[in-house]
Amino acid sequence: MDTSLCRVRVYKDRLRHNLHWLQSLGVPLMPVLKANAYGHGLLCCADIVMEAGIEQVAVGTVSEGCHLREYGYTGALVALLGLVPDGVPSTDPNVVESSVIRHDIEKAQAARITPLVHDWASLRVAAQGFGHSQPIAIKCDTGMARLGFQVSDMPAVTEFLKANPHLEPTLLLAHYAVADEPDQDEFTKAQAARMAEAARVFRAHFPNIRVSMGNTACLLSFPELAGDLARSGQALYGDNPLARTSRASCGAALQPVMEVSAPVLSVHPLAAGTSIGYGRLYTPDHNITVAVVGMGYADGLRRVQFGQPQMNVHGVRVPILGRISMQMTAVDVSSVPETRAGDYACMLGGSGDTIRPGDVAEWWGTIGYEVTCIFGKSRIYS
Ligand SMILES: *Cc1c(COP(=O)(O)O)cnc(C)c1O
Repeated sequence: MDTSLCRVRVYKDRLRHNLHWLQSLGVPLMPVLKANAYGHGLLCCADIVMEAGIEQVAVGTVSEGCHLREYGYTGALVALLGLVPDGVPSTDPNVVESSVIRHDIEKAQAARITPLVHDWASLRVAAQGFGHSQPIAIKCDTGMARLGFQVSDMPAVTEFLKANPHLEPTLLLAHYAVADEPDQDEFTKAQAARMAEAARVFRAHFPNIRVSMGNTACLLSFPELAGDLARSGQALYGDNPLARTSRASCGAALQPVMEVSAPVLSVHPLAAGTSIGYGRLYTPDHNITVAVVGMGYADGLRRVQFGQPQMNVHGVRVPILGRISMQMTAVDVSSVPETRAGDYACMLGGSGDTIRPGDVAEWWGTIGYEVTCIFGKSRIYS
């Protein structure tokens, strides 16, 4: 059922370019394909990762890992959300819900997924749940305070693991909180120092464990603080997390992978003094030409916008006029007189003066990550 005219395109050649460029930075990569590859589509992104012979990837849920395993990926698969307790489905016949049953332990074991283990409870669940040899990744909290053991727990964690030899710790992970904020570099360096201490304790018992710290912003700014494996997501998809910082040039080579467009439904003149749209928010003071584009907040656009949001029509950026409707948005195409109904207008991407996730993020008061995740919930045309 077509409920949307909006078209999401993923350019695999640009993904390939970004992956190769990231590889050239010299730190082995663990591409992050969580959340349906940040909205880009898990399997089409996996194609590029597999073609490049990458030996480890990170996903969010164990189910995502299983999906990749079934698709034929043979390398290590790390589930960053760990082993999630099974959900209890509602028995109320009035309730319609999405699936909440997970069975992560069985799935992880069957598909040889490496779950993140991040606290004593999850370590005990892993030790009891997994019957035979099972890779796990130990998460260490070095300053993110989200998931992870404290560095001071490391001696006890290694003792526990030695007493449970069916658990094979293959990775020690930590995550940076502000690697994309140059004025907080001291915090990033302090996080790296804490991880060095955790790694020292761990390596005394598990000399082959690999340490993974860096996200995209760390890899671009301080490759030497990324560890043995850099977990890069955002750069893979061509969004530079340093774009609006003093280190913007670090990611200038990245190419945006996602394009979001919809057809123009109507092109018509709007006379000076005539208001347009709900709330009559915009009234031109001179005659203009309006194109009505078939996408709105039902397709992922945000109704609340900051600054002067734009779309790309025939390679030119044109201003959005007034309120975004549920399935329609008006733009001023006076500067692109060749615009006709049936042409495609881009909210993301487009030729010429292309619109990047970071640009949309500024208009929405968010970051590029959220922009691609939201649009990815629309259909994927690869
Ligand atoms: C999402 C995520 C990453 C990737 O971060 P990017 O900024 O997209 O490179 C790395 N590690 C963890 C734990 C994550 O959750």
